Amino acid sequence: MSDPEITRDFEQMDLPVPLLRGIYALGLEKPSRPQQLGIVPGVKGQDLLLQSQSGTGKTVTFSTISLSRAGKYQSRVLILNPNRDLANQTYDVLKSLSKYMINSSKEPLINIHLSVGGYNDMKSDSEKLKCNPHIVIGTIGRIEHQMKNGNLDCSNIELVIIDEADEMLKSREDGKSFKDNIKFIYKNFIKESAQTILISATYNRDYI
Ligand code: ADP
Repeated sequence: MSDPEITRDFEQMDLPVPLLRGIYALGLEKPSRPQQLGIVPGVKGQDLLLQSQSGTGKTVTFSTISLSRAGKYQSRVLILNPNRDLANQTYDVLKSLSKYMINSSKEPLINIHLSVGGYNDMKSDSEKLKCNPHIVIGTIGRIEHQMKNGNLDCSNIELVIIDEADEMLKSREDGKSFKDNIKFIYKNFIKESAQTILISATYNRDYI
């Protein structure tokens, strides 16, 4: 196996300029280790397992990959989370990073939709999903439900990101694992050519 490519500056990552502005506006000057290693291969379409401690910049890494793919190639991206809090936090990071990805009327060029249970009522969620947002971020339960109901068309989803993959893919004795939901989604809805990026703070053999 060859050594992974390291890119030490955000400018060298061939990111859309408005996204670069968003990165700098957040006060990020130099990419952290996961960003140096992950962003370029992720944007190029490689499957990745990105594992590093909490707080090392993984969310910024996969959010940058998602926005770059959506901005440059109009790719559709699905980001799966184990819970609402995490989905909300990542949604906020995506919105901040994409702040300058707008047209001359100041409308967002990248449509990002948060699909979670609770306050986000099913009817408006379904309507927004049917508009094919570039990036759909949500909890696994709500997303699976919307796929089964035909409200989330996955036929053109090119990148699937599984955050907290350690939590999402672990087997549990009580049987309440998300692993089966993820297998079901992949088997029935995600096209074989789709790229997958797993994000985790720990490494676990259950990923394989
Ligand atoms: P993780 O997902 O690994 O927990 P985050 O992407 O949420 O990490 O980043 C954790 C914190 O560090 C956030 O406040 C984020 O803005 C900040 N951060 C991320 N990347 C960088 C960077 N390259 N330089 C400075 N701060 C960063």
